[in-house]
Amino acid sequence: MKENPVNQTHPAFSAGSAPQTFQSPYSVTFWGAARCVTGSMHVVQLGDFRILLDCGVHTGNDRPTVTPKLPFNAAKLDAVILSHNHTDHVGRIHELFVEGYAGPIHCTRPARDLMEVQLLNSARIQEQEFASRNTVTLQGTAHRLSTKLARKVVDHCIPLDYDQPVEILPGIGLTLYDAGHILGSAMVVLSFRQGIHDRRLAFTGDIGRSGLPYLKPAQTLPPCDYAICESTYGGRKHESREQMGKKLGKIVTDTIERGGKILMPAFSLGRTQAVLHHLRRWMNEGVVPTIPIHVDSPLGRVFSQVYKDYPEALAVPEPKSPEVDWMVDPEEAYQASKSHGSSVIIASGGMLEGGKILKHLRNHVDDPRSTLCLVSFQAPGTLGSKVLEKHPTLTFHGRTWNKWIDVQEISGFSGHGDHDDLCRAMEPMLERNGCVRLVHGEPDGMKALSGSLKAMGLEVGMPDMGEVWNLEAKD
Ligand SMILES: [Zn+2]
Repeated sequence: MKENPVNQTHPAFSAGSAPQTFQSPYSVTFWGAARCVTGSMHVVQLGDFRILLDCGVHTGNDRPTVTPKLPFNAAKLDAVILSHNHTDHVGRIHELFVEGYAGPIHCTRPARDLMEVQLLNSARIQEQEFASRNTVTLQGTAHRLSTKLARKVVDHCIPLDYDQPVEILPGIGLTLYDAGHILGSAMVVLSFRQGIHDRRLAFTGDIGRSGLPYLKPAQTLPPCDYAICESTYGGRKHESREQMGKKLGKIVTDTIERGGKILMPAFSLGRTQAVLHHLRRWMNEGVVPTIPIHVDSPLGRVFSQVYKDYPEALAVPEPKSPEVDWMVDPEEAYQASKSHGSSVIIASGGMLEGGKILKHLRNHVDDPRSTLCLVSFQAPGTLGSKVLEKHPTLTFHGRTWNKWIDVQEISGFSGHGDHDDLCRAMEPMLERNGCVRLVHGEPDGMKALSGSLKAMGLEVGMPDMGEVWNLEAKD
């Protein structure tokens, strides 16, 4: 089609030293989520200005590239833009301020509120840990987070509305579009002058899935010249809402007949709210039998309060019934777990790597009447992935248990768009002969998505960690 942008590995990265600034006047350097699914972090150079998109941590078994320091000079950034509040997009944001950044963080208003909850909670935990052990062992981050630092970070947030262009730096415009992924999630579009051309660069963050109405769906991006696009569900298709409801209905019915509990591990932000919303609606619709719902997720409870502050973000209002029992007391949670009769227990710890779910799993892992219903992707190596293996036992909390609990999986709750959703999101780029770089995906999924986008007529690449994408003049 046209001249291809040139890819090269940043020399400072390959040398293994702390990188300095790069030379290209228009470029993107991929410092995370490059050929893997976490650690979203990209530095955009537009003329004299450097803008950071996201500042996430690598989590789970993903490529362990956490450096003691951030891989770029934070003091030389001119602006930071946050797509949304999942840890793999925001988890290192406080480190910017330790390393000399003092500028704004552009994000949506709900994202700012969620960040406040996250950071203050993490600071409290770290301060308690520090006080009790006088040591810092926080996985994946280099700097301890204090309440004072948390406040400083939140104070630097500049909340923006969707669809409202603002000039964030001289000659550089920013517009946020609803990504429909979690509350306050945004797709980022930067507009700038490149030579004689007006250019647009899009960064999708994480794009929400279609066909499962809860939050408003992802907006359509404007035509852009360059796009950094997530690819988590490249090559895959989600179950429909109808299929999911039917499946969950059968799981709950079968478990009630056996007199067991249904345990659902769910991440505190995003998944807990989405699962609760649809579970209650299906109960109202008669698709799933109505039984008590308990939620054991203290942080999920606070995040849900923030969701309540933004009813306009929802495509479908929250159902008024059935009631949800948000458990705050460990004794109450224990009683709910041990009580007679069937109920649904949603608990924190989406991949069973920690969180409240483990206590409930201890009570039920060897109870063939109960069901463990997984509603999230289980990364390889996590306890969640081991549960899915056909093995008669499960080892956790220092002992080996008989795995007699029924294990079921419902995949459609993903907050990510599937293959077709991602292709649709990139369609507007055709109007400008767009160049797309795929991030935030596994190699197989990326390849599948890359094939489809190329077939549509787009130029596509899959950058590696530390790679610089020079935004060459295209015509
Ligand atoms: Zn996300």
